[in-house]
Amino acid sequence: SLRLAARVQRIKPSPSSAAADRAAALRREGRSIIGLVVGEPDLDMPGHIVEAIVEAARQGQTRYTQNAGTPELRAAISAKLQRENGLDYAADQILVTPGAKSAIFNALLATLGEGDEVLVPAPYWVSYPDMVLACDGTPVTVIGHESDGFKLRPEALAQAITPRTRWLILNSPSNPTGAVYSEAEWKDLLEVLQAHPQVWLMTDEIYEHICFAGHKPRHPLVLEPGLKERTLIVNGVSKTYAMTGLRLGYAAGPPALIQAMAALQSQSTSNACSLSQAGAVAALNGDQSFVVRNAELYRCRRDEVVGRINAIDGLRCELPDGAFYVYVNCAGLLGRQTPKGQILGNDDDVVMYLLEQVGVAVIAGHAYGLSPYFRLSTAASLETLIEGCVRMATAVSLLR
Ligand code: PLP
Repeated sequence: SLRLAARVQRIKPSPSSAAADRAAALRREGRSIIGLVVGEPDLDMPGHIVEAIVEAARQGQTRYTQNAGTPELRAAISAKLQRENGLDYAADQILVTPGAKSAIFNALLATLGEGDEVLVPAPYWVSYPDMVLACDGTPVTVIGHESDGFKLRPEALAQAITPRTRWLILNSPSNPTGAVYSEAEWKDLLEVLQAHPQVWLMTDEIYEHICFAGHKPRHPLVLEPGLKERTLIVNGVSKTYAMTGLRLGYAAGPPALIQAMAALQSQSTSNACSLSQAGAVAALNGDQSFVVRNAELYRCRRDEVVGRINAIDGLRCELPDGAFYVYVNCAGLLGRQTPKGQILGNDDDVVMYLLEQVGVAVIAGHAYGLSPYFRLSTAASLETLIEGCVRMATAVSLLR
């Protein structure tokens, strides 16, 4: 019989897919389902990127590339980091990966051993704790409360650090809350890290361009260049350019870490897809008006959804500053009774009720390490979002 490794037994598949599976099953039964689950843009990849990929295929760019990524793409990433973030990274400090997810995984695999702790502020992206576990580390969650905009407080960070802490993973703008750390908030956190040289900082910047904060905060390494020697920047083209399926991300950091990650990559996936790399060059070097237009689109959707949610008695949410998620507080629904006589006891119950009663699919906050909430994705048309909100209002009005 199959004997699974301990590292696999420690982890679970993404709950996003469990919720999506249930919604898909209901759809097959003929139910109309409003899916507000997915974490990817509903828009098409811009045409000039499509053209670049087709052209690359025609030119025969279909062979292995350098393991760390093509020189063209690493140059484009280096230029992007300079142009948009004011940071200097040479090509040998950059690793191109099959998705940002792979960059995070390889960084943890390259650095963690048994007993090593990774600080994961909650609400967190579901994959962080499981990736840490898969790499033999121990995820340590630190709650960012709603009253603090779901953000990690410096006192909480200081308290959570131990001699075994290896990483702090910070994701701004955040999945699932949309929280964006201000410069002042970054500075306070970086000051704590200054006092603990054993702790490295991983900044997951995948939602960088979906940001509605008054003015985009400067990069934490511009605010505190001293931390560059122990910071890994993780980013990619998935969300910004609607390229999720092309699996193209990257990491920038100290050469020793980048080399270790590259060694792991060379013995596992090898280079990211050659055509995706060609597409990413076109994305990063090309016209950025798509990016700006999209941020505006996501902002309109956010405003519409947040307004409608807050008009529902029992649901409440703040205006998120970024990403395409709204993290809805559903504490006001707990203890209420459904038409079938069930008492809603937690956010899982609320999510199942919304799905079964009115066909709205969202994900329980429980999956992100902070209850009672649910995450709703605004990566859907305005029409779909409005229909989802109307249905949720109906479902809530049926509770006693
Ligand atoms: N980081 C966060 C916070 C995400 O939400 C996601 C995707 O959902 C990723 C990383 C993964 O990005 P990629 O598609 O580049 O692997």
